[in-house]
Amino acid sequence: MQLTLADIYSAAKVIRGVADGTPLVPSPFMSARSGADFLLKLENMQPIGAFKLRGALNAVAGVTEARGVTCCSTGNHGRGVAYAAGQRGIRAVICMSELVPQAKVDGIRALGGEVHIAGRSQDDAQAESRRLAREEGLFEISPFDDPLVIAGQGTIGLEILSARPDITTLLVPLSGGGLAAGVALAAKAINPQIRLIGISMDRGAAMYESIRAGKPVEVEEIPSLADSLGGGIGMENRLSFPLCRDLLDEIVLVSEDEIYHAMQVLYYEDRIVAEGACVVGMAAVLSGRIKLDGPTATIVTGRNLDMPTFTRVVTGQHVQLGDITVKGKPYAA
Ligand SMILES: *Cc1c(COP(=O)(O)O)cnc(C)c1O
Repeated sequence: MQLTLADIYSAAKVIRGVADGTPLVPSPFMSARSGADFLLKLENMQPIGAFKLRGALNAVAGVTEARGVTCCSTGNHGRGVAYAAGQRGIRAVICMSELVPQAKVDGIRALGGEVHIAGRSQDDAQAESRRLAREEGLFEISPFDDPLVIAGQGTIGLEILSARPDITTLLVPLSGGGLAAGVALAAKAINPQIRLIGISMDRGAAMYESIRAGKPVEVEEIPSLADSLGGGIGMENRLSFPLCRDLLDEIVLVSEDEIYHAMQVLYYEDRIVAEGACVVGMAAVLSGRIKLDGPTATIVTGRNLDMPTFTRVVTGQHVQLGDITVKGKPYAA
């Protein structure tokens, strides 16, 4: 299966009027700090609060002969699939691990999705989704390793480059790699010179470890402020792994302390409420791990955060993540 720019243009037609056209806004603070024009693509403004609606709409539109759809999810893909299935009037069963914040479970139920909690990892949730596909005739939609999902997420790249063809660097939060693969495919097809950097948290970065190993590897799933970036890439990964391996120029990892600070920056400087996963690109720039050489955009991927944790971060309190404590610090630029 060869994905091309044409597939991404097709996806743009499918999602038009529902999940497209999010704002691309400047961040004066990040521009001053980095010395480059710094832009934020606000996917937190999506109807479900995250970009995953793009891929989910495109994938659900492609389902023909199933009794409904199923998927595993850290939360946002499930919301997207539940929303898209609801629009088509078909059943959606979302499988999630116990680590997923309750707010995300509630969000999916509110959209009419059925939630199955299975095990302590994304792998367990995926096994459950597989089982449902087999035993109940549901169509399984991978959160990142599906051509229609990747093409849907790629429409973000089309929109950014059509608004700002002068962008030289794209900073993309990276987990299973559906977002990075789609955006990289679109962006590099339009401008082969553009630099694509994937960013993950430095503990349990599945795509980073897999590319280093030359094949998909399992990682331990560790609680993170960037909870949407947790989980593996699937040992049988067919698409997002080779696409990320071939199209990303670099993968940069950031610490929980850096994510904590960047969440405060996005809130106090840009006045945007968004998940920890959204700020990893900003965190990498603020910590000096990435040098910018021209107009740069990052994707503010979603707003579906766990409010108690967010409140602790913006009020400078410590946050307990499993066995590590992120030290509290009141915001100071
Ligand atoms: C899914 C998700 C990501 C990562 O996308 P992948 O395609 O898995 O790499 C980043 N941010 C948020 C908010 C997400 O929901």
